[in-house]
Amino acid sequence: MKKINIIGAGLSGSEAAYQLSKRGYSVNLYEVKRLKRNSVQVTNNLAELVCSNSLRSDDLLNAVGTLKEEMRLLDSLIIKAAEFARVPAGGSLAVDREKFSEYVTKALNDNPLINIIDEEVSEIDNEAVTLIASGPLTTEKMQNQINDLLGKDDFYFYDAVAPIITKDSINMDIAFRKNRYEKGETEDYINCPMTKEQYDHFYNELINAELAIGHLEGEDSFKYFEGCMPVEGMAKRGEKTLLFGPMKPQGLRNLDGTTNYAVVQLRQDDAKDSLYNIVGFQTNLKWPEQKRVFSLIPGLENANFVRYGVMHKNNFINSPKVLNSFLQLKTNSNIFFAGQITGVEGYVESTVTGIIAAINIDKYLNNQPLVVPPSSTVTGALINYINKASTTNFQPMKANWGIIDEIDVDKRNGKNAKKEAYSQRALAAMKEFIDKI
Ligand SMILES: Cc1cc2nc3c(=O)[nH]c(=O)nc-3n(C[C@H](O)[C@H](O)[C@H](O)COP(=O)(O)OP(=O)(O)OC[C@H]3O[C@@H](n4cnc5c(N)ncnc54)[C@H](O)[C@@H]3O)c2cc1C
Repeated sequence: MKKINIIGAGLSGSEAAYQLSKRGYSVNLYEVKRLKRNSVQVTNNLAELVCSNSLRSDDLLNAVGTLKEEMRLLDSLIIKAAEFARVPAGGSLAVDREKFSEYVTKALNDNPLINIIDEEVSEIDNEAVTLIASGPLTTEKMQNQINDLLGKDDFYFYDAVAPIITKDSINMDIAFRKNRYEKGETEDYINCPMTKEQYDHFYNELINAELAIGHLEGEDSFKYFEGCMPVEGMAKRGEKTLLFGPMKPQGLRNLDGTTNYAVVQLRQDDAKDSLYNIVGFQTNLKWPEQKRVFSLIPGLENANFVRYGVMHKNNFINSPKVLNSFLQLKTNSNIFFAGQITGVEGYVESTVTGIIAAINIDKYLNNQPLVVPPSSTVTGALINYINKASTTNFQPMKANWGIIDEIDVDKRNGKNAKKEAYSQRALAAMKEFIDKI
């Protein structure tokens, strides 16, 4: 039988090893941390939660809550570990992080089919089927291998993205559709106009807002991003700098022909036209600060943020270009990817790709057609997103209802009716998928 190598025993790699062992395969699980830790690892255990101890909402009305339920149906080891290590956290699934990682480490150590190898992989073995699950902080040697595999243009080192909001949360009584200088045949951009008073208030809140820690911080970070400055960094260069950058009003008159002091533009972010990003607003602000400050933009007072802006080290590949929809490399069918490196974002999202990669490695080794859950499931919608997103400006994505196939629900049934319908449909579709495979 063909050898299976998994590179990285983080969340997705550990999950994939467990899922493959359940299907009867022996797995070599390579992990470097006991020889050399990265800047955020603090223990020798596998599947370390490097930052928050929360796997976020456990509410089925929330997409990540439904995603976790789908993973329970898929018998996820990581979710079992989280239930075992659960600590009280309201509607969230938060864990004692030591207990959580110890549970996973023991489950893998005790498994006779899983061979944990403390080694930094620096070369991909062409004879083996390989799952690359080396995470957002892949070691340099592995980065070089991935570069050789994909080419430099399709492997990214930093994430510098603007917040993304749902289109249906934009107040179109204030915002208006128009392209700058009315170029193009369709009105692609949504514009949020500002008076001088509104700008001054926004500007003061922006430059005084709290920055995130642990990611790229302060002035030092700007040298990485001269072409892609954080919006607050640009603002700190001068009161009017933004008016010559992402808040430039020129060419964006109101529909009645009047002019604005400043304009913030929103650009379509997904093929379905349900998500919009705030153009040029890549940021290093804390997430609650982003919500507070960016909601001051007229038209965004009730904005629903599905992804906050971030600027941090993050290795991820250009999945829409290089992977097929089964997490397999288009140019080498022996190689699969899982985890944050595929362009999903978050503990839970990373883990679920480990399950899907394992299912498909099994199918591949059995010469059976590869599979992916339908995009009415949160799992399927995430994989669909990383598969169909723009190849020229691919940005990572968390679980959210904005990426799932739309359902028409009568609004009179209450504000949660749509989410309930999404969740029920997702779980029914996942059960059907599991029965089929
Ligand atoms: C600083 C930081 C903070 C984050 N905070 C959160 C958060 O609070 N909440 C959240 O939901 N998500 C967070 N994330 C995002 C992400 O969900 C986690 O990083 C998650 O652990 C990703 O899972 P993974 O399996 O892709 O990678 P990881 O869990 O990082 O696993 C990858 C493993 O591969 C190993 N490895 C790397 N290179 C090699 C090599 N050459 N050979 C062998 N092993 C190798 C690493 O040591 C690591 O153990 C954060 C990311 C970062 C970078």
